[in-house]
Amino acid sequence: MKNCAFCELPEIKDREIMQNKLARAFLTNKPIVPGHVLVIPVRCVTKYEDLNNKEREAIEELRNEIMGSLKKSFGAEGFNFSWNDGEYAGQTVAHFHLHIIPRTKGDTGIYNYEPRQFLYRPSTERAQASEKELIEITNIIRSNLS
Ligand SMILES: [Zn+2]
Repeated sequence: MKNCAFCELPEIKDREIMQNKLARAFLTNKPIVPGHVLVIPVRCVTKYEDLNNKEREAIEELRNEIMGSLKKSFGAEGFNFSWNDGEYAGQTVAHFHLHIIPRTKGDTGIYNYEPRQFLYRPSTERAQASEKELIEITNIIRSNLS
């Protein structure tokens, strides 16, 4: 049995917003903005690819419900949805979790939140790749589709 904060920390129960048979939604303890929610499968699996279709549906159902509530609760006008899939992508709790981050125009309590700054190369301009390189990479990915 692995140690898992989401499965083992009792305080998460107090932060639970809703659940269905296969998934749970609760507030993160380190919110980027108020209303930052995590949705997890009940089953303790690490990656998106470990989820079965029923679990994905269950997560999607909670995502929809939570979104509606966050619009009413915080006037959310937009959302960031994200997950870090695996240790090398920055996943720190080895239990799949979808972040739901409600956004409003000029939202406060958050500084310089710009996903591109950390999703892509920080502090460098992203160079435009050549059409030739893009086509080569497209072909490599296509040729390895199963
Ligand atoms: Zn877990």
